[in-house]
Amino acid sequence: YVKQSGKSSFSFYFDELNTDANRLILLDSELRKAIEHRDFVLYFQPKVDVKLNKVVGLEALVRWNSEKLGFVSPAEFIPYAEETGLIIPISEIILEKACEELVNLRKAGYSKLPISINISSIHFQQSNFLESIQRILEKNNTSAQNFEIEVTERTVMNSDQDTISKLVRLKQLGFKLSIDDFGTGYSSLSYLVRFPVDYLKIDKSFIQHIVSLADKQAVVDAIIKMAHRLNMQVVAEGVESLQQLNYLNEMGCDFIQGYYYSKPVPMEELVEFLQFWEYEQQGDIGL
Ligand code: C2E
Ligand code: MG
Ligand code: MG
Ligand code: MG
Repeated sequence: YVKQSGKSSFSFYFDELNTDANRLILLDSELRKAIEHRDFVLYFQPKVDVKLNKVVGLEALVRWNSEKLGFVSPAEFIPYAEETGLIIPISEIILEKACEELVNLRKAGYSKLPISINISSIHFQQSNFLESIQRILEKNNTSAQNFEIEVTERTVMNSDQDTISKLVRLKQLGFKLSIDDFGTGYSSLSYLVRFPVDYLKIDKSFIQHIVSLADKQAVVDAIIKMAHRLNMQVVAEGVESLQQLNYLNEMGCDFIQGYYYSKPVPMEELVEFLQFWEYEQQGDIGL
C-alpha cells in the first residue's frame, strides 16, 4: 500500500526519540556547567496567615536559565538531577544561596521571616544529609531557626526508622518541617502520627477544583480536620482565586500560598511586595 504522508511513522518515531535524546545530552552538559558556575537563582513566594492577614514565611523555588536551553523548569531538571546524582551539589548550592538571600531579607528589615527550602528525597536519604546542611549553615553563620524544610509525602511515605530519626534530628536542630504535595502519595494517614511535623501542604491538584468538585472539597476538609487533631497546621498551595481563598478560609485552613497573592519572584521584588503589604495594612487601620 502507499503511505499518505511523506514520512513513515517509523522514522517519525526515531526523529522524536532523537530530539529527546539530544535534549537530554544538552541538559546534562548544561546542568554540569551550571553547577560549576553556581548558575541557579532562587525565587520566593510568600506564605500568608489567613486569619492574621500576615506574611509568615517565604518558600524558595529554584530557577535556572541555561545558555543553550533557555529557561528550564525545575519540574524538568530536578527529576533529571535526581536520577544522575547531580541533585546533591545542586541542593547544596540552593541551600547556600538561601543563606545569602536570608542576609538580604534581614537587611531589608524582616528579622523573623523564615525561608522554606525544598529538599529532594535523594538528598534527604544520603547518610550524611544532616551533616551536609549543618556544615552549610555554620559556614554561613546562620541557624536552623531561620529555615523550614519541605519534604514531599513520597519522601517520608515508607516512614522507616531512618526517616523518622532524621526528621526528629532536624526538629532538634530547630528547623520547622513541612510535608509537601500532601495528598498525592496515596499513603496511609496513620503514619502521620509518628512524624514530628509542623505543617501539611495540600497539593495544588486538590486546590485547583476546590470550588466546583465536591470530592476535592471532602478530601481537603478531611485533611484540615485531621491535621488539626494531630497539632499540625495546614498550608494550601496553588491558590489562585478569591473564591478558593474563601473556601479554604471557611474550612479552617491556616496558611495560603499561590498566585492569588504572588508568583514566586526574586528577593528584591519580594521585599517590595512585603513593603507594599505593610503599607496596605496601615491603610486598613486608618494610619
Ligand atoms: P513545590 O515545592 O510543590 O512548589 C510549588 C510549585 O507550584 C512551584 O512550581 C510554584 O511556582 C507553583 N505555584 C505556586 N503558586 C501557584 C499557583 O497559584 N498556581 C500554580 N499553577 N502554580 C503555583 P515550580 O517553582 O515550577 O517548582 C515545581 C517543583 O519543583 C516544586 O514543587 C518542587 O518539587 C521542585 N522544586 C522547585 N524548587 C526546588 C528546589 O529549590 N529544590 C528542590 N529539591 N526542588 C525544587
Ligand atoms: Mg514546596
Ligand atoms: Mg508542593
Ligand atoms: Mg509540587
